[in-house]
Amino acid sequence: MTPIAAQTVVVAGGGIGGVATANRLRRRLDRRHRVVLVNRDPDFTYAASYLWVMTGSRRPEQITRPLKRLERRGIEVVIGEVTDIDPTSRTLTVGQRTLTGDHLVVALGADWATDRVPGLGDHGHTYATLPGAQRLAGELARIESGRIVVVTAAPLYKCPAAPYEAALLIDAELRARGVRDRVQVVVRSAEPAPMPVAGANVSAAVQQLLADRDIDYQPGRQITAAEPGTVHFGDTSEDADLLVYMPPICAPQAIANSALAADDGWIHADPTTLATDFEGVYAIGDNTHIVLGIGKPLPRAGVFAHAQAHVVADTITGDITGKPAPGGFDGHGGCFIETGAGRAAYGSGNFYGDPAPTVALHSPARRWHWGKVTFEQRVIRRWL
Ligand SMILES: Cc1cc2nc3c(=O)[nH]c(=O)nc-3n(C[C@H](O)[C@H](O)[C@H](O)COP(=O)(O)OP(=O)(O)OC[C@H]3O[C@@H](n4cnc5c(N)ncnc54)[C@H](O)[C@@H]3O)c2cc1C
Repeated sequence: MTPIAAQTVVVAGGGIGGVATANRLRRRLDRRHRVVLVNRDPDFTYAASYLWVMTGSRRPEQITRPLKRLERRGIEVVIGEVTDIDPTSRTLTVGQRTLTGDHLVVALGADWATDRVPGLGDHGHTYATLPGAQRLAGELARIESGRIVVVTAAPLYKCPAAPYEAALLIDAELRARGVRDRVQVVVRSAEPAPMPVAGANVSAAVQQLLADRDIDYQPGRQITAAEPGTVHFGDTSEDADLLVYMPPICAPQAIANSALAADDGWIHADPTTLATDFEGVYAIGDNTHIVLGIGKPLPRAGVFAHAQAHVVADTITGDITGKPAPGGFDGHGGCFIETGAGRAAYGSGNFYGDPAPTVALHSPARRWHWGKVTFEQRVIRRWL
């Protein structure tokens, strides 16, 4: 038998997708093969828990881990900015270094495009970053009366459930402080319904969750500008004592500048194998644009980045060891929607359903809240 030559897998990005890929590869490949992970920031932070930072249920250090901890498992960690990707040679430029792999996994996520809406970053608060969630926690703790406007600042953003979860958790916090009757909470979404990709039943169920808590909801309201105390939606404006937003997103610059990018800047990987047009190069997670049968993109969600990471890690392992990999990514996934007071709803199903995704929303219950906590703990304790 011909011995297997030592190979190098380079993973670009140390978020959910990159860390899951590197861990799985390291567990499956023997130590002759190198697994190298590159990330801009030295720390991994778990974004799904930022909303708990917003409500004060988590401190930043509880959801942050140094990526260098992966080195204990035999994963090489390079901290630096990827400025160039050459998919033909599978080479990344990171500062003065170049890193070439026999296999390359691109998991650089999505960049924020907050400046697309004038005044949004200056006059609004976001829970979509860790520092943003910390600042918003302070604002929420202070507010005693007035009007909170929660917006999605574009139809395309990370985690379709998060803005609705944010509104529900804000409502619950205000109730717990006894000030809810003096603070109006409204949601204005750029998209035509909550989580429209999940289908009309899920949209209706989320709207009901909002209505049950006296949260006024209006869809199809694209924010166009923000000023102190005022939010503009084209020709109309609303008062806002506190503006809370989920930012628009765009493809990371290093990808948009590379041959991997389609015209829209994202990587249009194969929906099942996550392979790109370049041999040995895969793309997973938020930097990947997968258009579903209904014409809408697969949501940017950690649950999909995680599942895709496993598919790609197994494919690469199969290529290296000669053992065939099990099936590809099948579009199944679910997400929790915290509703406050230790409960969450849970939406799950097949996003690759034909002719449309088949997704159902389970009513709020304690078990879904604990499901979310369990997943958080698994990521933070087992992966890093
Ligand atoms: C508030 C909030 C709540 C969420 N809740 C959920 C949830 O409950 N469930 C769910 O499934 N999803 C949730 N998501 C979405 C989820 O966090 C993302 O979909 C997921 O993190 C995507 O994983 P990824 O690996 O593709 O990208 P990321 O996790 O964003 O990782 C990308 C990494 O690449 C790095 N990077 C980017 N560019 C460069 C560069 N040029 N050089 C070097 N490094 C670079 C970044 O620093 C980052 O570490 C939530 C998101 C937010 C913001």
